[in-house]
Amino acid sequence: MHASGMKRRPRPSGTPWDGAPDSDLTPAQIIVRDCHRDIYGYRHAGASAAGEADFFNGYERENCPRCGSGAVVRDGFDSNGVRRWRCRSCGRGFGPATGTIFEGRRLPVADWTEFLLEAMSFDGMAGIARSDRRSETTPPYWLAKLFLVLEGVQDGTVLSGRVQIDEMLYPLALADQPRMPDGSRMPGGYSRSNLCIGIGCDALGLSVFRAEGAGKTSGARTMAAFGGCIERGSTPVHDKENGHNRLVRELGLADERYDSREIKRLPDRENPLRDVNRLCFLLRLFLDSHNGFDRSRIGGYLDLFSVMMNPPRERMEKAAMVLDRAMSSPKTLRYREFYSKNPS
Ligand SMILES: [Zn+2]
Repeated sequence: MHASGMKRRPRPSGTPWDGAPDSDLTPAQIIVRDCHRDIYGYRHAGASAAGEADFFNGYERENCPRCGSGAVVRDGFDSNGVRRWRCRSCGRGFGPATGTIFEGRRLPVADWTEFLLEAMSFDGMAGIARSDRRSETTPPYWLAKLFLVLEGVQDGTVLSGRVQIDEMLYPLALADQPRMPDGSRMPGGYSRSNLCIGIGCDALGLSVFRAEGAGKTSGARTMAAFGGCIERGSTPVHDKENGHNRLVRELGLADERYDSREIKRLPDRENPLRDVNRLCFLLRLFLDSHNGFDRSRIGGYLDLFSVMMNPPRERMEKAAMVLDRAMSSPKTLRYREFYSKNPS
C-alpha cells in the first residue's frame, strides 16, 4: 500500500485500496472500490447485486432494531443472498438494512455510493441528475438521507493550536430577504439578508462550519458556534469582529487580532487568515453549485462540506466512512414521508 499523503496523479481507475486483499478491507471500502471500478468500465452483469449482498452481510447485528434486545440470532438468507436475523425477545425478523437509511430502498447501494462520490464535489445536484440520467426528483431524496446520516458528524472535531476563525455571509433566498414595501432593500438590511456561517480551522487540517442564523454574528452566536470545538489554551487568529470578544474572554484564550482592511492588502502567503479565507472561497463555490438550495437545510450542506474538507483525504475513503456511518445510524427516511413534507 502506498502512503495516501504522496502527491501523484492517480490512474482514473485507481482506488486507495488497490493491492490490498479483501480480507483487510471493511465492507464499505469494498463496495466503494467496486463501484468506482464499475464506473470506469469494469461493469459486468450482476456484479453490483452480488456486491450488495456481500456489503450487507459484512455488518453483524448486535441488537434488535425493533425492540433493542441483544438476543439476536442469524436466520438464513433472503432470495438476494442477504442475511436474515431474528430477535429472540420480540420474535420479529429483520435484515442488515432494517432501521437504516437503506431500509425499503428501491435502488442498489452501489447507486447510492456513486451518488455519494458525486455529492462530494462541486457539481451540484442538477449536474448529478443530468450526468446519470436519473429522475430529477431522486437526488433531493438521496441528499436528505445523506444529511440524516451526517447529523452530528462535526461533533467530535476539536480545533487546537493556532485556530483561524472568520464568518462568511451567504444570501438568503430572495423571498426571505427583508424588503421595503416597494421592494427596495431595507436601509441597513444587508446583513439581515444573509446567512452567517462561522468557519474555523487549525494547522492540523481540521475545520468546522457552523450556521449562525441570519444577520451578523454576536457574542452569544460566536460562543454557540465555536465554544465547544476550540481546545482551551489555543490561540484564535482572527479579525477585529466584536462578536469574538466573549469567546476569547470566556475560554481564557490568548489571541491574535488583525485589521481585516490591512491584511486584505497582503500577498496571500503572508495573510495570517489565508487558510480560513480559502475555506470561505471553496464553501461559496460549493453552495453556489447547489443553486437555489433550501436555506433551512444549511446545516446539512455544511456537514457535507465538512466531510469534503476534513480527513480522510481521499474522496473514496470519505465515501466508505459515510457508508459505515449509515449502517450504524438508526435512521430511516421513507420516500413517501420525504415527499409529503417537501411537495415541490
Ligand atoms: Zn426484538
